[in-house]
Amino acid sequence: MLALSDMLPHELREHLTPAYRAEQVFAWLHQKGVQSYDEMTNLPRDLRESLAEKFNIANCTVAHKQMSRDGTTKFLFALHDGTHIESVVMRYEHGISICVSTQAGCRMGCKFCATGGQGFTRNLTAGEIAAQVYAAQRELPPLSLRDISSKPTPGGGDCKEGSKITHIVLMGMGEPLDNYHNTLRFLRLITHPKGQNISQRRISLSTCGLVPQIEQLANEKLGVTLSVSLHASNDNLRDTIMPINRKYPIAQLLAACKHYTEQTGRRISIEYALLRGVNDTPAHARELAALLQGMLVHVNLIPANEVGRGYEPSSPEHVRRFQQALQQHRINATVRRSLGKDIDAACGQLRNRTECR
Ligand code: SAH
Ligand code: SF4
Repeated sequence: MLALSDMLPHELREHLTPAYRAEQVFAWLHQKGVQSYDEMTNLPRDLRESLAEKFNIANCTVAHKQMSRDGTTKFLFALHDGTHIESVVMRYEHGISICVSTQAGCRMGCKFCATGGQGFTRNLTAGEIAAQVYAAQRELPPLSLRDISSKPTPGGGDCKEGSKITHIVLMGMGEPLDNYHNTLRFLRLITHPKGQNISQRRISLSTCGLVPQIEQLANEKLGVTLSVSLHASNDNLRDTIMPINRKYPIAQLLAACKHYTEQTGRRISIEYALLRGVNDTPAHARELAALLQGMLVHVNLIPANEVGRGYEPSSPEHVRRFQQALQQHRINATVRRSLGKDIDAACGQLRNRTECR
């Protein structure tokens, strides 16, 4: 059954009359991000009580919080059943971004990934994905006079919108397209004009490559950016590090990406984590460039995070040479700045530490 915090305004209207009550409840939940009925102060007490008897509200409580020198904040949240998930808030010149989890654990088993080594606990509900945004937002410092001044503060990441979370990446724990319906519902909640009203263009969804769901998402014709975790330039290599490739090999995956671009007009982000001695030579770069030729893509090169699964990051020299080789073949590539290195900001790492203690 849906929780109150999973419902869109038209669904709330089925349970609440008159209609303005549904609008009030939606605003409490998704604009103000409250986590309890007690906080809905403009609702009559008997209405709050009768709603509470019928419906839950998703909530996240902070179990652990780590702040990095670069302003990145990592949260370990506890859900109502004691399940732990991670979210990371990053500050950029262009705004504040949150990386949210869509599942507790993951079924995909990628060999280099901390979450992939933890197995799968459960899918998150749409309200639980949204609750990470609201809980993190509450933890950010309130608007100060400095925030309100229009000039961005170098390094502080404060922008014209103050301490408001402006961007969302679905790149935390889990595979969003393996929890398709809840993820899509979350996108509808978080972009709703009566809620946070976050623009679809400020949202990125990252997938390891579930081809049928990419096709399905393309047909929804949303404006969200699709990030594809490729990490390999041929099937043999990808088979060994990402088991999903045996089901949906690279050619099928890239065909689905082209379909996504045709349907949405959006450029695809290709994520490529550079793993020392595995996928990081100029020959791999040339092979990758050949795969991506003619596609509307941008490659993000990520020096891999060491998560204790036997893979090491490529050296800065290898990263630079890889990028150059791609650019020689006219493939745009940037080296992603790694934020929060000092605080285990790669998702899955903090949960590993906390639960293994
Ligand atoms: N399941 C989705 C989204 C969550 S993973 C996906 O796989 O795309 C978020 C990103 O972190 C993915 O690009 C993933 O491949 C990458 N990642 C996982 N482990 C990593 C590591 N050790 N170093 C660098 N990137 C990693
Ligand atoms: Fe799951 Fe993504 Fe990690 Fe693969 S990289 S195990 S799909 S979270």
